[in-house]
Amino acid sequence: MLNQTQSAALFQKAQQTMPGGVNSPVRAFQSVGGTPPFIAKGEGAYMIDVDGNRYIDYVLSWGPLIRGHAHPAVVAALREAVGRGTSYGAPNPYEVEMAQLVTEMMPTIEMVRMVNSGTEATMSVLRLARAFTGRDKIIKFKGNYHGHADFLLVEAGSGVATLGLPNSPGVPAATVAHTLSAIYNDADSVQALFDQFPGEIAAVIVEPVAGNMGLVPPQPGFLQALRTITANDGALLIFDEVMTGFRVHPGGAQTLYNIQPDLTALGKVIGGGLPVGAYGGRRDIMQMVAPSGSMYQAGTLSGNPLAMVAGLATLRGIRDETTWDDLHTAGIKLDAGIKAAAAKASIPIYQTRVGTMQGLFFSEQPVTNYATAKQCDTERFGRFFHAMLAQGIYLAPSQFEGGFLSTEHGDTEIERTIAAAEKAFAML
Ligand SMILES: *Cc1c(COP(=O)(O)O)cnc(C)c1O
Repeated sequence: MLNQTQSAALFQKAQQTMPGGVNSPVRAFQSVGGTPPFIAKGEGAYMIDVDGNRYIDYVLSWGPLIRGHAHPAVVAALREAVGRGTSYGAPNPYEVEMAQLVTEMMPTIEMVRMVNSGTEATMSVLRLARAFTGRDKIIKFKGNYHGHADFLLVEAGSGVATLGLPNSPGVPAATVAHTLSAIYNDADSVQALFDQFPGEIAAVIVEPVAGNMGLVPPQPGFLQALRTITANDGALLIFDEVMTGFRVHPGGAQTLYNIQPDLTALGKVIGGGLPVGAYGGRRDIMQMVAPSGSMYQAGTLSGNPLAMVAGLATLRGIRDETTWDDLHTAGIKLDAGIKAAAAKASIPIYQTRVGTMQGLFFSEQPVTNYATAKQCDTERFGRFFHAMLAQGIYLAPSQFEGGFLSTEHGDTEIERTIAAAEKAFAML
């Protein structure tokens, strides 16, 4: 049993003055129950809570920390920059370096605009797609999550799925009237919408590897079909790579699967743990963004110098210092160990992996879309989650979230995790 005295006291106090005691829903552990550890410190692959419990972290701030917590290069870059001020509201050199680096690492991005979160990135990139095409409708996929903008809160994944909300109150019907939903990994469901609304759909937005209903990889041919269908109708293809960008491959899912989206939304890893997002893509489209064009979008803190240096140190690290094969090997070793542990306890699971992202479903069936993801045994997941947490393994507190690896997860951490999983499965 974990000693959670300090966390429990903080959680109680937090609930007096913060809705649910948290600033983002899934952190509250609602679907798994219990007290969320309040974190005092992060260190490489580990987090240490206010009671002194130490966890191997597979959440990594929900993806951004691909170099682990408090990586020396990121901390040094921040220390160096912070003494020169925290924000200028005027252009700074780091923004130029960032734009250069992003366009190099993701060649479909010819121009980029920095924002402050993934939500802002997807919201803005869809405004741009509508401005460019002069069309209103958009297609998203059930179980894909694109942040919390009103018009994207339709059968969304992540916390919306965890809390079992089909939609959110407070979103006017008119706001979602132009949002069409299709089935992930089912290109025919997309083609059917284009047949119904020819010439009216501005864009298809997709998580090229779905990470917000657990991890669900694209089936062979799915992304290519989206590319073909959108191109045939003059609609744009938008990859929401907020989670996959620089994580499934240094060049994102678009490089891994060799598909060229027109526009891309970024977040998470690009900020190295600071609040950052970005969107970019084809030059002819991006030139519509103000002030070079008429599509308005702005941000007081956008391109913030601290956020830029943390992001630069993170991206340069994975480009120059990381052997992607090593990361992949660690992931495969982890998956094999977990698979064997589950088999030993006769617990049916379905595993997925793309690069440094992993999925573990309590399901006998393959999980390929939102409907099959929702059939998982969430109650069993909850018990597994707590059995792992008690052994110092910090997993995402929901069946509908993926797991993440960092460059700091070594053999020791992987082996400890597998040993913990053996005990946890045996307790189910
Ligand atoms: C996390 C996420 C977002 C939202 O990003 P925030 O920074 O939380 O606003 C959007 N799209 C995807 C695919 C995400 O995983």
